[in-house]
Amino acid sequence: MIKTTLNDLAILDGTPAFPERLHVGRPNIGNRETFLRYINNILDSRLLTNNGPLVQELEKRIADMVGAKHCIAMCNGTTALETVGRALELKDEVLVPSFTFIATAHSLQWQGITPVFCDIDPATHNIDTKKIEALITPRTTGILGVHVWGRPCDIEALVEIAKKHRLKLFFDAAHAFSCSYKGRMIGNFGDAEVFSFHATKIFNTFEGGAVVTNNDDLAKKIRLMKNFGFMGYDNVGYIGINGKMSEVHAAMGLSGLEILNDFIAVNKRNYERYRQELKGIPGISMISYNEREKCNYHYIVLEIDDAVTHISRDRLLETLWAENVLARCYFYPGCHKQVPYAFGYSRAGIKLSETERLGQRILIFPTGTAISTDDISGICQIVKFAVEHGPELSKRLIALGRNGI
Ligand SMILES: *Cc1c(COP(=O)(O)O)cnc(C)c1O
Repeated sequence: MIKTTLNDLAILDGTPAFPERLHVGRPNIGNRETFLRYINNILDSRLLTNNGPLVQELEKRIADMVGAKHCIAMCNGTTALETVGRALELKDEVLVPSFTFIATAHSLQWQGITPVFCDIDPATHNIDTKKIEALITPRTTGILGVHVWGRPCDIEALVEIAKKHRLKLFFDAAHAFSCSYKGRMIGNFGDAEVFSFHATKIFNTFEGGAVVTNNDDLAKKIRLMKNFGFMGYDNVGYIGINGKMSEVHAAMGLSGLEILNDFIAVNKRNYERYRQELKGIPGISMISYNEREKCNYHYIVLEIDDAVTHISRDRLLETLWAENVLARCYFYPGCHKQVPYAFGYSRAGIKLSETERLGQRILIFPTGTAISTDDISGICQIVKFAVEHGPELSKRLIALGRNGI
């Protein structure tokens, strides 16, 4: 498995280092016995959905864990973001980073709200709070912050800006379940925060998400809105949506929550192994998590400086894929460069230099309970070997017309 000559690389002549594909975001699976017991109870009770006992239990446990007053479980994070935007009565323009998963932007645009993209701070990958005020117009109604990689954005600065300009402030905390900011759990900030429990996240309910808030009125409104706006059996008070979580999804959540700390421990172990194995490879740096806060360590994020590695990020990526290491380039090229926001959109054509630069440098590596520390050593050995032979490997890949996947 150890690569000793260039021809050992699978992209040239060799055998893939891994017989099976290693994915980013392969799901963590909760306690199987617990899950199956819940499923039997669900079938026996015929309580399948509509705010059933397992959804209520999951909401209570998450609210307790976060230390927030309200948790409203929903069918997914995107619908939860849309519902919060709606409940906050946002309109016209809302500020968001472009360096995020596309759903952050879509959740606004889908409601007829223009996402106004702000650049990021390259040191944190989060929205650059120094660049926000220049983007505020009389039409701005809110700010949607994102805790990219589970590292909280500069919440204090955002709170100040929102207060000064009388804007609503909420957070896409899809990455930040079980993370803290200045000692306080994510879920307690702004008007509301939204988690995603999609299969690829640290903690999943197959599909799912939740709104967490300390605002009683907002929580009440969101509860009604996610259930078609029903205030009583035959009484509709709002335009609502079907944003409910089912009992099966909640069962998966409860069986995962039981061993969430094990998932985090595995992620931390993996993170430390990556750090150790990648140390000293020129041109390769890995983002770090603040050990003084609670972190979920769910994203292994590398930056590739190709002036130093002499192999481009895209060729390194293709080299890894050939070895069955399916690294990813989240969130290249940035939301503002994707078709719906690059064409026929009121702010098409904006330039966000840091977002664009980071998008070209970034690689996300596999972690989670599906990845062993031996896998990680093997993955890092390929990276190290590719960089050691950067100039020559590049030359050969260029000759073969291999310029990225
Ligand atoms: C996963 C994710 C979402 C969407 O959540 P879903 O539950 O898949 O709808 C939104 N924002 C970010 C940053 C995400 O990573």
